[in-house]
Order: sequence, then structure tokens, then C-alpha cells
Amino acid sequence: MHIMCCLKPVPKPGTIKVDPQTHTLKREGSELELNPYDRYALELALSLAEDTKGTVTAVSMGPPNAKPILIEAYACGADRVVLLSDRAFAGADTLATSYVLARAATKLGPFDLIICGKVSIDGETAQVGPEIAAWLGWPSVIWVKEARVTNKTLELVRLTDSHLERLKAKLPLVITTENEINDPRPPSLKRLLTTLEKDPVEILTAQDLQAEPQRIGLSGSPTQVLDVFHPEYQSEQKFLSGPVEKLVDELVSVLKERGLIS
Ligand SMILES: Cc1cc2nc3c(=O)[nH]c(=O)nc-3n(C[C@H](O)[C@H](O)[C@H](O)COP(=O)(O)OP(=O)(O)OC[C@H]3O[C@@H](n4cnc5c(N)ncnc54)[C@H](O)[C@@H]3O)c2cc1C
Repeated sequence: MHIMCCLKPVPKPGTIKVDPQTHTLKREGSELELNPYDRYALELALSLAEDTKGTVTAVSMGPPNAKPILIEAYACGADRVVLLSDRAFAGADTLATSYVLARAATKLGPFDLIICGKVSIDGETAQVGPEIAAWLGWPSVIWVKEARVTNKTLELVRLTDSHLERLKAKLPLVITTENEINDPRPPSLKRLLTTLEKDPVEILTAQDLQAEPQRIGLSGSPTQVLDVFHPEYQSEQKFLSGPVEKLVDELVSVLKERGLIS
């Protein structure tokens, strides 16, 4: 089975900077790390590829400083690691991001399966996986907690808010993984050392992907950030003291005053 695994570079907490003009994240200036949820997607991709004697292509769309994430994926066992990096991708919302990842699937494939993490810890929309499926015209299954290959189909268990669903899905398919699906393996030191001699990361631009200019970056993003601001919190403390019976009445009237109960 040939698998593409999508790994998102996210800013390390505390290093995020916002462009005051465009209100977009300045990813170039931030320190990046692998979106934690994507470790589970990578582990599933690696183990399914091992079971089926297949391959894993790990793909990230991001600035050049996202490269270490792909080196880590290579050290974990990915066969091919590809960074989609081009100034023209900057400012992408989820639609433009998923378009570029879908173009990469077409360019680097054919793939039987695309695996994404459940959600990113920065954008947090969980839209990218299903949108890649839509661009490719493939089905998608989200929140997968178990996956097994049988006769060119995937047997899946999916976790919803209230119950588990057991499904059988034909390939090709896009899935997003829950974090309880597996225990991600650590990188192999031996593979890591080979990257010192030969950089495994391939870099592809918009032109390499034959991406339509109006579908990428800010021009391909129907949603745009209008403003970024810190919410203002108002807190007013009031200390109540006295016998419990009196306190309860007082507390109820304070809560009523503040419109918290009626
Ligand atoms: C309205 C809006 C405007 C935005 N504008 C900007 C902007 O101007 N500049 C900017 O930098 N960001 C912007 N973002 C954030 C940008 O859209 C997201 O970084 C990107 O589209 C992924 O969405 P997400 O983080 O919600 O991913 P999710 O859908 O939550 O991610 C799910 C999974 O998809 C995969 N995935 C997601 N993104 C990537 C990626 N880049 N490479 C590989 N795999 C990936 C991963 O497997 C991930 O676990 C914007 C977001 C919104 C909602």
C-alpha cells in the first residue's frame, strides 16, 4: 500500500508572531515543530506500510524552516519526505492548503491512502483532511481509532462523540487519526545519522506541482483574517464572609445581579 502522510509544521508555543499589516501568522520567524497529532498519523502510515510492504511519503506544506520535521519523519522510517515550499503558498487558508496537498498527492502518487492528523494545534479547523479528499474526489473517514488492511479494503473503527463505528472502506481513501490509535515510535538514530551525509528532503514549488495560481496562497483563500487581537477579560472579585446560610443568599443575589442566573 502506498501512503501519503500529511505532517503540519506548527509554531512552537511562545514563538508565534503575527504580521501587523496582513494579520497572518509569520511562520518564517517562528520556531516550528511537528503538530503533535500528526505523530499518530505517521505511526499508522509506517505500520500499515510495513504490514503491506508498501511505502510512506511524508509531505508538509510550509516555509524552509519546516525541514527538520521531515528529517524527523525520515528518521522514523518514511521512505520519501517532501516539503512543499513557495512564497506563493503564504497566507493560505484551509482550502488553499488542501488544494496544494491534493496537487502533491497527484504529483507524487499514485497513493492508496492519505493519512492526516485529527486536527492542528494552531489553526484547529480539522478541515484539511476532508478537503484533500474533496479535491481528489475520494471518500474520507475522520477520527479513526483503529485501522487494518484486508483484501484492498480498510477496516476502520471511528470514534464519535457518543459511540464507536465499525466501517469497511474501499481505497483510495483519506483518513484522519485519533491520538489513541497507537504509540508513535521514536526516530532511529541510525537513519538520523544518514541524513547528515545526504539531505533526504525534496522541495517542490507551486510550479513543480502545476498548481493554478488563483487557487494558492492568499488569492486561493476565500477566508481571510481581518484582525487579530487579545480578548479583554473583565474580572471583579467580591469576597463573601459570614454564616453559611447568609452566604448562600448573598451568593445567589450576586449571581442574579451579574446576570449569571435568573
Ligand atoms: C480564516 C483563516 C485564515 C487563515 N489565514 C492564514 C494566513 O493568512 N496565514 C497562515 O499562515 N495561516 C493562515 N491560516 C491557517 C491555515 O489555514 C492553516 O495553517 C492551514 O490551512 C491548515 O488548517 P488547520 O491548521 O486548521 O489544519 P487542520 O485541518 O486542523 O489539520 C488537520 C491535518 O491536516 C494536515 N495538515 C494541515 N495543514 C498542513 C500543512 N500545511 N502541511 C501538511 N499537512 C497539513 C495535518 O495532517 C493536520 O493534522 C488561516 C486559517 C483560517 C481558518
